[in-house]
Amino acid sequence: MDDVKEMHRALLAWYDDEKRDLPWRHTHDPYAIWVSEIMLQQTQVATVIPYYHRWLARFPTVQALAEADDQDVLAQWQGLGYYRRCRLLLEGARFVAEKNDWPQSAEEWRKVPGVGPYTAGAITSIAFNQPTPLVDGNVERVFSRLTACRDSGPQLKKSAWTWAEGVTPHKRPGDWNQALMELGATVCKPGAPLCGACPLIKKCEAHRQGVQNELPIGGKKEQAVELTHLCWVPIHNDRFGIRQITTGEWWAGMWEFPRVTNSCPQPHWLQSAEIHEVGVIKHMVTKHKIKLVISLAYLTNQLPELRWLTLSELESVALPAPQRKVLRLALAHIRAEQPLLF
Ligand code: SF4
Repeated sequence: MDDVKEMHRALLAWYDDEKRDLPWRHTHDPYAIWVSEIMLQQTQVATVIPYYHRWLARFPTVQALAEADDQDVLAQWQGLGYYRRCRLLLEGARFVAEKNDWPQSAEEWRKVPGVGPYTAGAITSIAFNQPTPLVDGNVERVFSRLTACRDSGPQLKKSAWTWAEGVTPHKRPGDWNQALMELGATVCKPGAPLCGACPLIKKCEAHRQGVQNELPIGGKKEQAVELTHLCWVPIHNDRFGIRQITTGEWWAGMWEFPRVTNSCPQPHWLQSAEIHEVGVIKHMVTKHKIKLVISLAYLTNQLPELRWLTLSELESVALPAPQRKVLRLALAHIRAEQPLLF
C-alpha cells in the first residue's frame, strides 16, 4: 500500500511540473471533456486542438449539439476522420440532453451511445472527481513495463484494467489518470522509453530487469486490404453532381462524387457522358488501402438521382477528406482544360 501511495506522490508531482498545457486541461465541464476524449481517439493532439476550439465555439453545450442539424455537425468534423465518432457523439448528446441531467457514474455513462469504458472513466474521473480507472494504449504500455507483465492483446488489456482498478486513488483521480497517459505519451513511449526522465523508475520492474524495450509484447499487425475504387466527378454547366452516402457505407450521411469498387457495375449514365481521366489518389480507411481512380464526367443534362451544386455551395457541404482531394484534383484539371468554367 505504501508502495502505491509513493507511486501516486511521485507521478502526480511529476505531472504537476511537466504536463503539457492542453486546452481540455483547463476545464471540468463534462461536455468539453467528452468532446476532447472522442476527438483524441486515433488522432494526434496537435490535430485535435483547432477542431476542439472550433467545435466548442459552434456547439458550446450538450444542448446546442443535441439541437444541431446533422449536416452542420458532420461539416464541423470534416477532416478529422473516423466519422463514426462524430455520429455517435451527436447521438450521445441527444441521449443526454433528453434526460436533462448528466449520468452520475461510469456505469451510467456507458449507456450513452459512443461511450465505452475508457471514455466513461475519463469523464467521471476528470469532470466529476470519481475514482474510476481508465486504460488506453498509453496506460497499457506503462502498466506492462511497470509490472514487467508479458501478456499481450486482449489479455494485456484485461490485466491493465485490473491493475488500474487497484491503483486509482480517491484523491485527484482525474489527474492520476491523465498523468499515467501523459507518462505513456511523453516518457514511457513505444519502442525505447526515456527511463532517465521517469518519476517511476524506482518502482519499475521492466527497468530493474533491463527488459523495458521488449515490453509490451506486440500483437500481430493486421495486414492491409488493397482496393481500387472508380470515382467520377459529374459536371453539367457550372454545377457538380454529388450523392449522399447511405447507411452502412464508410462516411454514411456525408456526400461524395459517385464511386464504385472496380468489380461492381458502373453507373448507366456514363454511356452518355464525356469522360476525362484525371488521376489517382491513394488513402487508407481503417485497414483498407484504397486506390481511387478519378475521372471527370461531362454531362448534357442534370441527372435526377444526384444533387447538383455550384462550387461555392459544394465548399460548405460535408465531404470526407479523400473526396475533398478528388475535388481539388478535378478543379486543377478543369482549370487547365477550360479556364473559364470555374
Ligand atoms: S522506468 Fe522506463 S519503462 Fe519503467 S515506467 Fe518509467 S519510462 Fe517506462
